[in-house]
Amino acid sequence: MTMSQEYIEIRGARENNLQEVSLRLPKRKIIIFTGVSGSGKSSVVFDTIAQEAQRLLFENFSMFIRNFLPRYPLPDTDAIENLSMAVIVDQKRLGGGSHSTVGTVTDIAPVLRLLFSRIGTPHVGYANAFSFNDPQGMCLECNGLGRKIGIDPKALVDMTRSLNEGAVIAPGLAGWERDLYIRSGLFDNDKQLADYTPEEMDLLLNSEPRKYKLAIGNKEMNATYEGLLFKFNRKFITRDIQTLSERTRQQVEPLLRLGPCPLCKGTRLNQAALSCKINGHTIAELSAMEVGELVGVIQTIEEPAATPVIRTLTERLQHLVDIGLEYLSLDRPTDTLSGGESQRVKMVKHLNGSLVDVMYIFDEPSVGLHPRDVHRLNEQLENLRDKGNTVIVVEHDPDVMKIADYLVDMGPRAGSEGGQVVYEGDFAGLLKADTLTGNHLQFQRPIKETFRQSRGTLPIIHARANNLKDVSVDIPAGVLTVVTGVAGSGKSSLINEAFLRQHPEAVVIDQSPVGISSRSNPATYTGIMDDVRKAFAAVNRVDAGLFSFNSKGACSNCKGLGVTYNDLGFLEGVKLPCEVCGGKRFKDEVLGYTFHGKTITDILSMTIQQALAFFTIKDVQSKLQAMSDVGLDYLTLGQPLSTLSGGECQRLKLASELHKQGSIYVMDEPTTGLHLSDIGHLLTIMNRLVDGGNTVIVIEHHLDVIRNADWIIDMGPEGGNKGGSVIFEGTPQELLNATHSLTSHYLR
Ligand code: ADP
Ligand code: ADP
Ligand code: ZN
Ligand code: ZN
Repeated sequence: MTMSQEYIEIRGARENNLQEVSLRLPKRKIIIFTGVSGSGKSSVVFDTIAQEAQRLLFENFSMFIRNFLPRYPLPDTDAIENLSMAVIVDQKRLGGGSHSTVGTVTDIAPVLRLLFSRIGTPHVGYANAFSFNDPQGMCLECNGLGRKIGIDPKALVDMTRSLNEGAVIAPGLAGWERDLYIRSGLFDNDKQLADYTPEEMDLLLNSEPRKYKLAIGNKEMNATYEGLLFKFNRKFITRDIQTLSERTRQQVEPLLRLGPCPLCKGTRLNQAALSCKINGHTIAELSAMEVGELVGVIQTIEEPAATPVIRTLTERLQHLVDIGLEYLSLDRPTDTLSGGESQRVKMVKHLNGSLVDVMYIFDEPSVGLHPRDVHRLNEQLENLRDKGNTVIVVEHDPDVMKIADYLVDMGPRAGSEGGQVVYEGDFAGLLKADTLTGNHLQFQRPIKETFRQSRGTLPIIHARANNLKDVSVDIPAGVLTVVTGVAGSGKSSLINEAFLRQHPEAVVIDQSPVGISSRSNPATYTGIMDDVRKAFAAVNRVDAGLFSFNSKGACSNCKGLGVTYNDLGFLEGVKLPCEVCGGKRFKDEVLGYTFHGKTITDILSMTIQQALAFFTIKDVQSKLQAMSDVGLDYLTLGQPLSTLSGGECQRLKLASELHKQGSIYVMDEPTTGLHLSDIGHLLTIMNRLVDGGNTVIVIEHHLDVIRNADWIIDMGPEGGNKGGSVIFEGTPQELLNATHSLTSHYLR
């Protein structure tokens, strides 16, 4: 079949830092955008192409419908032609609360329910009788949440003691109430609770009220025995907690714990749904199975009536496997997935679908993938293209760049020094191009020769979070440790859960947003703004408060925001530049004062790099230098923090920590969003932190970071149940010889 080549045409794009960008992008091909962060990749891909596609789509709707949709303003560009519908597959976490799972968002859960409604025994009902989101299927004890607030038994008894030694530690019990357990005659009062049989434990904790004769002296009295948990549940939980007195509530609250629902055991389904089985498995068991294993189980079902359903199910599950997510289960809540996992899960939905001539737009889809698994991602991107779609990708990983039919390299640098197309064409051409990307593709960082010696250890003891197989491992203090392993092997479980639980003093530098206030910016976040205000005040002999856009100097129309929001009822607020200050954020009177010839507004619109050349104040310089060191010199001092990407937020946090000493830092994939040329910066900073007397622990796949480590902890051997062990500890040099490690293979 020959299809005439069509092109997406963009002329004169000017969003953010773009300098009249014109492009002719081949349709039904894989197009990859490269360039340093801040060069303008997102400005072309998201703010221009995707934005216009969304806007066009919405233009098709009637005015009435459009009132319910978000507004997409016209991108700042002369022309964009020949777009298709855009599907954006980004790293935004999949929200949706606990009712949203891998099974529901991939549309696999409904197919599995259909299968149970067809061939499950005994027959329970239609497919929705197996859905925890449906009143017919959900457990009514927990309303389909699978979890319930209950009393933590650990707060009631001390397992290391016998009843005679005071094993009942439940607070709020009178002495005689405690004694009842000893005098009940039901237990061996000298036996340590840890040695109880399950039946004895059940009797102690869960027994319903029963009558018995209580011996007091030589008399017998009628008394009632009830299990401790049962008693506390009756007194505090089954009653509305709001009706308890304030004092009782304070007593009870520390006993409460969100645990699995006692009725459905966390499966969220009612007992009817749980009684129905296929080949001996309930739907809850199949949903809790790792997808890789589930595919095998489904394939063994031989049931002619269900062949089409089984085929669909297998196909969809296989997509999850193909994209490297075989270690997930269908019942996994989507809000526990990482950004990279979320993006791949969203991708699966489209692999299932049969849309053609769509523009699929991806934002660094390789995030979180071990080098071993990148080819699987590539195959899926190629699949989408081969179905007749245009695949547009922003990416830093050379192994993904290689599959591009067409590459667009943005640059030459970031911010106002970027915004241009510096190369377009194929990968071979990019390798020879004299651009930051081209130059860095040639260069390979060597493994370090000497490694820092640890100054003691930070132990992780008996870690069992998620898939961890009772891991005990020492993290060396005062050095740079990199934790490696394929996706799902247990890196985050080991560091973000086990380590942080055992070492709460560690500082996590993650990608979550910084500064919730719409007024925060790099200057306020780092404290530079305080020094700047003081400097203005001193030179002009006025009050420093004037120069804060949170106070009296602020434009009174926009309250210092520089923009006004026109709230049109249920429409999303429309943002317009303030008509009084024109976006300058300050009163005219304030703008009359200058510092070395610049107004406060001039200063806020300086980039970090410009500010570095301008300020001589020592404190300000070191803070600016720190931001420049983490590769953020293209940001302006006044850019709202809400416009920063996750990677930029992480680097800003990093910059503000650089002057500290004796701390433990934990970072999860800090190379996200970083161009090859920025990774050198990042390494310099990590080294500076360690040389300054800190411990740095990094979860990372990037080989350049691995090569720069003092110590490697490699998790594996595979993902999910097949992972969860430490398969190597040592220096990167030693890792080269660890033949059983996948990471070692890629390092060589
Ligand atoms: P990339 O995707 O290559 O990292 P971006 O397109 O996100 O680069 O950014 C290009 C430039 O535009 C950067 O200087 C960035 O700080 C700036 N920028 C991006 N979004 C906004 C925004 N909403 N407001 C102001 N400046 C922005
Ligand atoms: P990595 O960081 O190496 O990608 P993780 O520690 O995130 O690996 O995951 C290890 C295993 O634990 C995987 O099987 C994953 O699906 C599982 N897992 C991780 N987080 C959760 C969670 N919140 N709930 C259930 N399972 C989880
Ligand atoms: Zn339940
Ligand atoms: Zn204003």
